[in-house]
Amino acid sequence: MATDDFSAVSRALATEAVHAGREDLAGLGLHAPPLDLSTTYPSYDSRDEAARIDAFAATGALDDGPPVYARLSNPTVARFETALAKLEGTESAVSFASGMAALTAVLLVRASLGLRHVVAVRPLYGCSDHLLNAGLLGTEVTWVDPAGIADAIRPDTGLVLVESPANPTLRELDLRAIAHSCGSVPLLADNTFATPVLQRPVESGARLVLHSATKYLGGHGDVMGGIVACDEEFARKLRQVRFTTGGVLHPFAGYLLLRGLATLPVRVRAASATAAELVARLSADPRISAVHYPRIGGAMVAFETVGDPHEVIGSVRLITPAVSLGSVDTLIQHPASISHRIVDAGDRRSSGVSDRLLRMSVGLEDVEDLWADLDQALSGPRGLRARDGRRTEAAS
Ligand SMILES: *Cc1c(COP(=O)(O)O)cnc(C)c1O
Repeated sequence: MATDDFSAVSRALATEAVHAGREDLAGLGLHAPPLDLSTTYPSYDSRDEAARIDAFAATGALDDGPPVYARLSNPTVARFETALAKLEGTESAVSFASGMAALTAVLLVRASLGLRHVVAVRPLYGCSDHLLNAGLLGTEVTWVDPAGIADAIRPDTGLVLVESPANPTLRELDLRAIAHSCGSVPLLADNTFATPVLQRPVESGARLVLHSATKYLGGHGDVMGGIVACDEEFARKLRQVRFTTGGVLHPFAGYLLLRGLATLPVRVRAASATAAELVARLSADPRISAVHYPRIGGAMVAFETVGDPHEVIGSVRLITPAVSLGSVDTLIQHPASISHRIVDAGDRRSSGVSDRLLRMSVGLEDVEDLWADLDQALSGPRGLRARDGRRTEAAS
């Protein structure tokens, strides 16, 4: 995409969120970004097209010429990629049909070089855990604590994979120390929970930053996508894999994701303030045995109930009992039943995902309405009993 002199000026994240990927619009006489749904593009010069396809096959670099075919590139999707790269502070970004398609592409890039071994830290999002643990892509995984990363690295290690804050326990890792332990092996940090508003992992030494764009980047629970922010060298490899395996982001999804980025800083900050207040109330509540909330903040809250967590899921009225996260409305789910069901129960529990853990994605509703709903949901039949039990204990 054409850049102008302004793009050299460093601007605040909130400004970039609104303007990045739209630099050329005024010159085109447009205000809103155009949505290009073309699957193919006319070209009367097939010699030139042949040369361009050869160049892409050899390098994975996209030139400034007209698009060729939608599995190769799309101008609307490219705007979203440009914008997310800007927000994450990377040279490039490559988008995919979902977060899992993005992770798959990263693993395939490394496996194609014979680097099939992955070192990973639990917990991870359930499906990421399963993809590695089941070896579906012919990869092999060694699970370690952060302190064990350096020792676990082998000559065929292609990737170190971490999440911080992690899904669903919100465990935070020292990304800088981890990047140091990785040596020359690329560190992939899944930044879905923090978003670039709260944390930019490349600044701590991560080479690859993964997002399930389905979550905060889209922000409205109506678009699925994934994206990897990285240097242009890795991005070229990812584009080659994307072209041949086909897990592309749909242009309409790219349009919605670019639109979502514009409000990302405002949404994350507002929901985080509400989450922090709910954390304070939950922490003081006798019906709650533990609350997990990251030091960097954010809109995700995890807590363990004294009573049966299924009762809470069955009793919420304003809050939606549903998997996923990062939407404008508040969602709650039971990881052991849903998001992390696919992880072996022993591995799940040993990585801190207890059967009493609930994960809540705080949205943009008023904090008092959210608290009223949580309060009544926690006072379901068993919640009440648990609270009475505690009181009896305290009294005796
Ligand atoms: C949801 C999620 C994913 C997977 O993304 P999809 O868009 O659902 O494929 C990966 N990592 C984290 C942390 C997630 O929450």
